[in-house]
Amino acid sequence: MEATARREELKTVFAHASGCTRCPQLAATRTHVVFGAGNADADVMFVGEAPGRNEDEVGLPFVGQAGKLLDQLLDGVGLQRGDVFVANVLKCRPPQNRDPLPAEIDNCRDYLMAQLELIRPVVVCTLGNFATKLLRGDPTGITKLRGQDEVRAIGPRVVRLLPLLHPAAALYTPANVELLRADFGRIPELLALGAPVQPEVAEAGLARAEPAAAASAGPAPEPERFAGPAVTEPEPAPQLGLF
Ligand code: URA
Repeated sequence: MEATARREELKTVFAHASGCTRCPQLAATRTHVVFGAGNADADVMFVGEAPGRNEDEVGLPFVGQAGKLLDQLLDGVGLQRGDVFVANVLKCRPPQNRDPLPAEIDNCRDYLMAQLELIRPVVVCTLGNFATKLLRGDPTGITKLRGQDEVRAIGPRVVRLLPLLHPAAALYTPANVELLRADFGRIPELLALGAPVQPEVAEAGLARAEPAAAASAGPAPEPERFAGPAVTEPEPAPQLGLF
């Protein structure tokens, strides 16, 4: 699928997400669904945990203090928000910023998998434990994994996965800022390697394939997840924040 068509499809997913009621508590307490923002054809995608108060108010990811640090870290490797795509495991803020519940992660998984499938990043940086555990399908924690890139099948595509500390974990711990800076330094190196070899596409046009045997994978996302009319009309583009 061409980049333009993938971007349009991403808008459709956004429209569905923006009316989502799969998690009744989150749907009742949120101000905005924070779908994610950035370049819909980005080579680098970041996956955080869940929107906080600021993100819920504005409708965009990482706009608070952790977001400022993310901007600085990006700048350190010559990147800006418009070069990357930033999303979260959960698209809605958990009340009082509590941890995402397993059922909420499960409910929201389709949206993240669709984003990964449509944006087609080469490098996926997981920020913190929730994103790392979800996308690796393994309970190993971030402290052990940070900075160690690996080639992974996520849905139908193979990416270079780079687990990173969550920027919020560095806000009051300068040593973690240094770890984050060092680990961000891997991003240009990984980009220079280019996309990993992709599994063979079974049928042209279908653009779906079995996960590569060498790489572990979660189940491929179901087709036609977002067919049919969205529950609500899409929000105006600025909230989507696509470049
Ligand atoms: N923390 C996250 O994990 N995501 C955000 O969008 C903001 C803070």
